[in-house]
Amino acid sequence: MVLYCHVIPALTDPSSIQMPNLSLKGFRVILSASSLTRCGFVFLLLFLYSCASQPYRYSNKQYRKQAHALAKSLEVQPDTGITSDSIRQPDRWIGTVNFGLRKPNFVVIHHTAQQSCEKTLQTFTESPREVSAHYVICADGTLYHMLHDQLRAWHAGAGKWGQVTDVNSVSIGIELDNDGLAPYREAQLQVLLTLLDTLKQRYRIPSANFIGHADIAPGRKVDPGINFSWERLAKKGFGLWYGDTLSLILPESFDARTALKIIGYDVHDQTAAIQSFRLHFMASQRKGELLPEEKKILYALQLKSME
Ligand SMILES: [Zn+2]
Repeated sequence: MVLYCHVIPALTDPSSIQMPNLSLKGFRVILSASSLTRCGFVFLLLFLYSCASQPYRYSNKQYRKQAHALAKSLEVQPDTGITSDSIRQPDRWIGTVNFGLRKPNFVVIHHTAQQSCEKTLQTFTESPREVSAHYVICADGTLYHMLHDQLRAWHAGAGKWGQVTDVNSVSIGIELDNDGLAPYREAQLQVLLTLLDTLKQRYRIPSANFIGHADIAPGRKVDPGINFSWERLAKKGFGLWYGDTLSLILPESFDARTALKIIGYDVHDQTAAIQSFRLHFMASQRKGELLPEEKKILYALQLKSME
């Protein structure tokens, strides 16, 4: 598209100052001194158009800057960096030539608990929110990739799974656009399943390592919530499932706390751990002691975890 600002005077009036042609976002603009005011207005419109058409231009630029700074920091040989008295100073640094980036080994699924996908994207691109995820899947199935898989997103918070106490460092975070109340849309779930399949294959993530935020933060988080079907995911190979428990006999030695711990739950608050277990494996928010059938499910999961 070509825009001319007061173009006829610019070509016919010799006193006019012909400025170089300027290109901006597909617009070609010719300026003259007498049309600067009008052009200023046009530039303002173009600027506003540019901002509106690329609202995340600034955060994309910041991303590149931060990634570049991280890459630079990795180039520094760490021979002089350790100063703590309690850590022995290395005698010498010799860089190996055999290395790569660490790979994620878990996937943590969340819901955004926000009213729109746009709001989530805005939250994740604002500083200093200190909250982010690798992927956001909108309710309509639009998939946003927001961080390189091998960089550390801030999605898990203070979570624990098994012996992993820094879940952010070993996981990919996926946020599903959902307010926690609405049912998940089919288009969104289809995109999720495809993404999980890609990640599982690319990083060889074990099936049992597909978990929810509620699993790693009992008592603090409930996402992806009661409307999320973990059974459906498990049938596709993402996440642990218990199968048929009808013929299963609960041993006298069964201990719920031990079972929860073996599966991965933080049993510091056992009541909260049971709540997370119910949410994930029974889509239930029931409170109270474990029922006999729930104990069997827990035991079946314990056995699966020990395979
Ligand atoms: Zn979450």
